[in-house]
Amino acid sequence: MDQIKIGKFIAKCRKEKNLTQSQLAEKLNITDRAISKWENAKSMPDSSIMIELCELLDITVNELLLGERIGKEKYFEQAENNLIELQKYIENQNKLQINLSYIFRITSLIVDFVFAFIILFGTIDTLSEIILIITFAIVSFICLFTSSHIELLIGYYQCNKCGNKYIPNKDFFSFSMQIGSKRYLKCPKCHKKSWNNKVLTK
Ligand SMILES: [Zn+2]
Repeated sequence: MDQIKIGKFIAKCRKEKNLTQSQLAEKLNITDRAISKWENAKSMPDSSIMIELCELLDITVNELLLGERIGKEKYFEQAENNLIELQKYIENQNKLQINLSYIFRITSLIVDFVFAFIILFGTIDTLSEIILIITFAIVSFICLFTSSHIELLIGYYQCNKCGNKYIPNKDFFSFSMQIGSKRYLKCPKCHKKSWNNKVLTK
């Protein structure tokens, strides 16, 4: 999917309809900043808004995703290509988010080390030590919670015993052991505990 082409296409169709960014935004009940972001290829319209946007611009969702008008004879061929492209786009976005969750996790580890170092080897009074420990606990918790939350939103875990792909239970997930992209989880299908691999697609 070519975001730059899509952005230019949105701008072109909007101008053909004699609409300013703010007028289009108003019709869609969103901010004109969002329109500007689409047109500058910084983001894509949400799925919830795509149909309404296409109706306003007098184009099909297919044409929107391709970034140009399609003749009737090419329509179905292009529809299939667009579906594949869309799936690739989603997979890439998922990879980005997973990497983000690892960054949070690594940040939390670094924070742990720095704090442990200060508490063990620094010459600080008891009050400072208590403040440090509390701050340390909060920062670590936020990092771990955020990264777990992102991970839970994306993809599945695959059971090492039976191959079942599933989304783990949220509470259990937060407290499970983790090494890299593997987690020690109990499979809901075969009920066996094993190191489960993170997979992005089912
Ligand atoms: Zn299993």
